[in-house]
Amino acid sequence: MKTERAEPALLRRINERRIFEAIQRSGPASRATLARLSGLTPPTVSKVIDSLLTRGLVEEFDQPRPPLGRPHKLITMATTSAAVLGVVIDAGACCVTETGLDGRVTEDKTLRFPTPDTYEKLLDEVEARCRMLLSRTAAAAHGVGVSVPGLISERLNQVVFCPNLHLLDHRNPAQDLEQRLGIECLLMHELQALCLAERMYGGARGLDNFAMLDVTQGLGLGVVVGGVILAGHSGMAGEIGHITADPTGIRCGCGNRGCLETMATDAALVRMMRERLNKPLSFAAAASLLEGREADFQTEILAVAEYLAIAIAAVINTFNPTTVFVHGKLLVEKQERFDLVLARVRERTLEPLLAECTIVATRSSKRQGAIAGIMHWLTEGRTPGLGRRR
Ligand SMILES: [Zn+2]
Repeated sequence: MKTERAEPALLRRINERRIFEAIQRSGPASRATLARLSGLTPPTVSKVIDSLLTRGLVEEFDQPRPPLGRPHKLITMATTSAAVLGVVIDAGACCVTETGLDGRVTEDKTLRFPTPDTYEKLLDEVEARCRMLLSRTAAAAHGVGVSVPGLISERLNQVVFCPNLHLLDHRNPAQDLEQRLGIECLLMHELQALCLAERMYGGARGLDNFAMLDVTQGLGLGVVVGGVILAGHSGMAGEIGHITADPTGIRCGCGNRGCLETMATDAALVRMMRERLNKPLSFAAAASLLEGREADFQTEILAVAEYLAIAIAAVINTFNPTTVFVHGKLLVEKQERFDLVLARVRERTLEPLLAECTIVATRSSKRQGAIAGIMHWLTEGRTPGLGRRR
């Protein structure tokens, strides 16, 4: 895993980064607006923008309906001349997506597929889809963000252990993909990627102390303290899902019994529903069953809500965040079910800590996480920290 390099690939000077950041914050803007937002003089702004235009990193277009006064040209992040790719590897399903430098993820530029059963097949499938997306665009590809679950050791530069997807154990899919594609690829943990996405494109803009819980397949935690992602000694911090919640519980992918993630996730709810029905049940089938026959599965919903609440309360009690973002489907996206979880969080959390904390569903996705990660790397030359340069 890359951690730092001498200079960012896209932006060579601090003024370029200032302008880029201003466009990121404001969306398309005139040169005059960018001068005001960046605090740089109009001649400097024009010089920087000309350089960015020449290198295809920003684009200029006429404002469609100018307000009173003379028409402006607006500057925006490149979407036709420059591209980045995001790869999301997960248990069950993977996807590859392509966006411009504005990071706008769309369904028509996203290719999904079931996770293959061997590492070689996984690499083949990811490579084929990257090539397919690149063949459809004339834009120059600047990098690929690869988001994975499991423990990534920065020191060993690989996924050292992936409880829910063991084919990744001792592998670095970004490094292998880079060799195949000849484009820079960045490996990142899915929680760090989600934290970045929420900060760049979601509800965490401007937040310096927040936590991110992923409750889809595994139960993962990302914590941002003082604007920097908590990484630990080797970058492996945040494995809250493997805290033992029931010493006699079912076997977890890590080998232990009764880990919190075997009881507090979407995957846990699907497993309990499957056990009740005593027949195979896919994630999608479980989701539609819950829409039609929610009352039939109240016992299972309440059981999972109870443990998810314990996880959220543990995060709030331990880290004192201003916001906890929860990334999930079955228990999070449906407000009535999320309310059940929140009611239990209130019982489990220390009151003064809860009073300072908001708990909300994420607005961003793992796809955006992969894109946010590679954009952060290309523009800042650092990962995974969110620390400020100035
Ligand atoms: Zn475990």
